[in-house]
Amino acid sequence: MHLIAIGGSDAGISAALRARELDPDAEVTVVVADAYPNFSICGIPYLISGEVGHWRDLAHRSVADLEATGMRLRLDTRATAIDPTDHQVHLHGSDGRQETVGYDALVVGTGALPVVPPIAGLAGPEALGAADGVHLLHSMGDTFALATTLERQPARALIVGAGYVGLEMAEGLTVRGVRVTQVERLPEVLPTVDAELGALVRAELSDHGVEVVTATTVRSVDRAPAGAAGHLRVEASGPDGQRTTWDVDLVLVSVGVRPETGLLVVAGAATGPAGAVVVDETMRTGLPDVFAAGDCVVTHHQLLGPTYLPLGTTAHKQGRVAGENAVGGVARYAGSLGTQVVKAFDLVAGRTGLRDHEAAGAFRPATTASAPDDHKAYYPGAHPIATRLTGDLDTGRLLGAQLVGRLGTEIAKRVDVYAAAIHHHMSVAGIDDLDLSYTPPLGSPWDAVQIAAQAWVRDHQQRTREDLTPA
Ligand SMILES: Cc1cc2nc3c(=O)[nH]c(=O)nc-3n(C[C@H](O)[C@H](O)[C@H](O)COP(=O)(O)OP(=O)(O)OC[C@H]3O[C@@H](n4cnc5c(N)ncnc54)[C@H](O)[C@@H]3O)c2cc1C
Repeated sequence: MHLIAIGGSDAGISAALRARELDPDAEVTVVVADAYPNFSICGIPYLISGEVGHWRDLAHRSVADLEATGMRLRLDTRATAIDPTDHQVHLHGSDGRQETVGYDALVVGTGALPVVPPIAGLAGPEALGAADGVHLLHSMGDTFALATTLERQPARALIVGAGYVGLEMAEGLTVRGVRVTQVERLPEVLPTVDAELGALVRAELSDHGVEVVTATTVRSVDRAPAGAAGHLRVEASGPDGQRTTWDVDLVLVSVGVRPETGLLVVAGAATGPAGAVVVDETMRTGLPDVFAAGDCVVTHHQLLGPTYLPLGTTAHKQGRVAGENAVGGVARYAGSLGTQVVKAFDLVAGRTGLRDHEAAGAFRPATTASAPDDHKAYYPGAHPIATRLTGDLDTGRLLGAQLVGRLGTEIAKRVDVYAAAIHHHMSVAGIDDLDLSYTPPLGSPWDAVQIAAQAWVRDHQQRTREDLTPA
């Protein structure tokens, strides 16, 4: 049995590890386009900030660790074509060597590529790039290029986009001593949460010296004229068409990713939302013995069905399922709730499940805002957690949760409680029944998670005195 995994990040390596774990006799080859298998690209912002000391520290496992599991790594090697009929993959090494290798099962984990928005100066023969201080950020190669620009000690940077990676990079560059301007096309930063919560994140960025400009679209990046404050000139237009110009030394474009599906599409795989490759819950693509996982595939959302939700957590789980099934297992991917969390300076924002407008097609959603303290107010350091819970008015089912609070208010783990509740189809009212922990420095007899649920019930399901009195 020969399993080939294409891609050496979360999905490809998870598949290879699981296959070797379940079937020590399986021959497993991982083909990786670069020389950095199993690196945590999620950690790049903390390498840039200097909190992670060396790029090698970002490796989940070293090459030696991976090889010790029995898998074979083909680094600096790109898969250029899949022949699903003959069960073969064509490989092209960075040294120019080409070969064709047979497989019994194939897992494709080619991930995603950063979106390049339609900004003049970013495409075409005259496009500015990393050597000019204009960057995208997804791979270790991108990271090294950015690090080279940072060695030139830029004074000012402009980040296009205020999604979670843009926010993490605003913090990372600020910590590095770079003055950051962040420009977002939408009306509020972190558009994955409701604007009321995004506003809290924006205030945190501003408090740390980031110039935040929203409802503004970057139109062009060009070389600045001699004598300007920076060597790059960025032009943008605001909501009324008014133009703004910045002269900076570094531009980072961070506006999301698109699935890298070329190999599978040419081989005949079907695509779905966002152009990602369609897979079933066993991560099969429909091509014989070809599985796929991670940022290159459609995500099954537990509440919405097929969608595109590229996240590291998802890629790990899907890769593991694909690896297990590739060696004859019967694993299935249970689906995603889009649970995610981001730290922006001393604030943390998390979400899981659906927001009101996302749920509207399939449910009758209602959202309640509340701000319970993270622990008993008499114990020093208590802070409110801005919470927005969404439930279904017809069934009372919990549909989603969004939380923003200070670092230390356990946003990540509290959002995980809601994620577990949604996964198990709990009602909002049912959150009260959970036996959650309590000690005054860390919580309350009714945890913040439950107080927010009680607020939703009060707003949408409150029973009257007549309801409580037997007729
Ligand atoms: C800065 C940053 C921060 C992030 N933070 C978080 C976070 O905090 N939490 C979270 O859940 N997610 C986070 N993510 C997203 C997460 O990193 C991705 O969802 C995850 O890496 C996807 O894994 P993947 O294996 O599907 O694809 P990728 O990580 O994109 O890897 C694709 C792999 O395929 C290889 N490859 C591609 N084409 C070929 C080819 N033809 N031949 C051979 N090899 C090929 C690439 O070299 C690479 O090894 C972050 C992403 C970034 C960029």
